[in-house]
This record gives sequence, C-alpha cells and structure tokens, in this order.
Amino acid sequence: MTDRYGVIGHPIAHSKSPIIHQLFAKQTKQDISYEAFDIRPDDLDKEVRRLVKDGLRGFNVTVPHKEAIAELADVLVGQALRCKAVNTVTVAEDGTLAGDNTDGLGLLRDLRRNLRVSLAGELILILGAGGATRGIVPALLEAEPAELKIANRTSERAELLADEFGEYGPVQACTFDALEQQPFDLVINATSAGLRGETPPFPSSIIGPDTVCYDLSYAMSETPFLSWAREHGGENLYQGWGMLVEQAAESFMIWRGERPDTEDVLRRLRRPPDKLALAVPG
Ligand code: NAP
Repeated sequence: MTDRYGVIGHPIAHSKSPIIHQLFAKQTKQDISYEAFDIRPDDLDKEVRRLVKDGLRGFNVTVPHKEAIAELADVLVGQALRCKAVNTVTVAEDGTLAGDNTDGLGLLRDLRRNLRVSLAGELILILGAGGATRGIVPALLEAEPAELKIANRTSERAELLADEFGEYGPVQACTFDALEQQPFDLVINATSAGLRGETPPFPSSIIGPDTVCYDLSYAMSETPFLSWAREHGGENLYQGWGMLVEQAAESFMIWRGERPDTEDVLRRLRRPPDKLALAVPG
C-alpha cells in the first residue's frame, strides 16, 4: 500500500518538496505519495488532526507553522529539542506526533560535504533572526565556530536567540549597523527580504574576497543578496538549493530509513521549469 506524506504551510503552492520527494521515491524504489497542503494558522490544530486521521505517515512543515507545530507535537526529538521549531513530523501507529528539525543538518551537509566549506574555528555571521535562523543556529554551534553572530533589523529577536542558544556555544546578537568593520569567513543570509527583491542595508565591510556568502533563498537567477555580495567583492557565492535538497533527504531518511542520493536531484531541480517537468518520474 502507498504510504502518504506531505508538506504543510501557508502559502504552499511554491513548494518544491513534492517534486523532491517524488524524485527520492523513484530513486529508492519506495511506494510513497507526497502532497502539499495549504493550512491557515487558525486551522492548524484541526487540519493536522484530520491529516493524521486520513492516514498520513509524516509531513514536512514550512512557513509559518514551524514553531506552532513544535507546541502541537507530542514529543520533540533530534535538533528540534534544541531549536524548538519543527520541519519534520513522524506520525506513529497510535497517531502521536514526533517533531524533528532537519534544516540545520541540511545546511551543514551542503556547506561541508557539497561545498567543502570549513566551519570549525571560523567567524560566522547570520543575517536575520526568524524561523530559519532558529532552525540552523544549534547545528552551526555544534560545528564549533570561533564565533557566531546574529544580526537582525529587529535587535530584540536576535538577542532572544543569542540568549536562548548561548549555552551551546559562542553566539552574540547585534543590529546590521553595529556589525564590526571586519570581513567574516561565512555570511549566511537568512532574511526574507530578497523575496520582495530587497537587500537590507548590510555594511559592505562584512564581505572580503575570501568570505563564503550563502543565501538560504534560492531562485533560477541570482538572488538580490548574492548580487549585492558580488558588487561588494564577494567571490564565493551560493544559493540555498543544496540546503533545500539535503534537509529533504534527512526527512526522507527519518521516515523511510534510507538516505537518497542528493546530487542528481539537486542537478534536476535547478533546471528551468519546462525541463524539470520532463525529469519527474513518469
Ligand atoms: P521569517 O521567520 O519570516 O523571518 C524573516 C527574517 O527576515 C526576519 O529576521 C526579518 O527581520 C527579516 N527581514 C524580512 N524583511 C526584511 C527587510 N526588508 N529588511 C531586513 N530584514 C528583513 O522567515 P524564515 O522562515 O526565517 O525564512 C527566511 C528565508 O530563508 C526565506 O527566504 C526562506 O525561503 C529561506 N529558507 C530557505 C530554506 C532552504 O532550505 N534553503 C529553509 C528555510 C528557510 P525582522 O525580525 O526585523 O522582521
């Protein structure tokens, strides 16, 4: 019998998760289906109960539900225990929900394994202090950077995260204009400003020629943050496609006990939409 999985969010039409999991299923010869469910915040509890009743075996969680599902889950496991945000839920036989978070592991895997970026002993800056930052900070601290700085437009949100995660490693908070006049080894853009074509007023001194600039956002063309980084001398520029596929592979591993190969899926996903349609299992 086909096992059902899915992703919940609002909005959700843009999600690449269905196509990624279909490619994983085809590659590993697993009989699963994977659908996208648009659920409004007010309906979250009721709709999740309905999906569980309908027999869903697990689901991914995206904006804006990651923190709400951490509250709703019966138990938190893995990285979710630390970050208190959930992107992967496993439904047990008795209907109980176990919430995990694979965003941090997905990012680490892309940086270290795919892009060969070292993190131990490095100066890391995260721009933004929303749900994505919450998901990746504990994993980044486990990689033992010399320092992890979180800069955000609303300084209180960055301070909250720095306070909460301070016990796991050297993490500090500040505003964009208070950033020291020094290039970082790695700058991660975790703001959503690029979705509206904007680039916040980051000081250009954060980027040097050796800085690795990683944008969690991804697009078929260059993202606004990476265009900005290039204009200010950045040479090592990466979009979040790799994190997207790697976090999905971690979820698939949790559900199916098998980690799919990500290289081929990543290559297919970056093709223009008309070509991608040809790559989906038939
Ligand atoms: P979120 O919770 O809504 O947080 C948005 C963040 O962006 C906040 O820190 C916010 O600052 C900041 N921001 C928004 N507009 C801004 C502007 N004009 N100027 C300065 N700062 C601005 O979103 P999220 O879930 O953290 O997601 C952030 C980004 O990561 C999104 O683009 C998302 O698509 C991407 N993402 C990618 C992956 C992947 O697998 N590649 C995974 C997760 C997320 P304030 O606190 O001041 O409002």
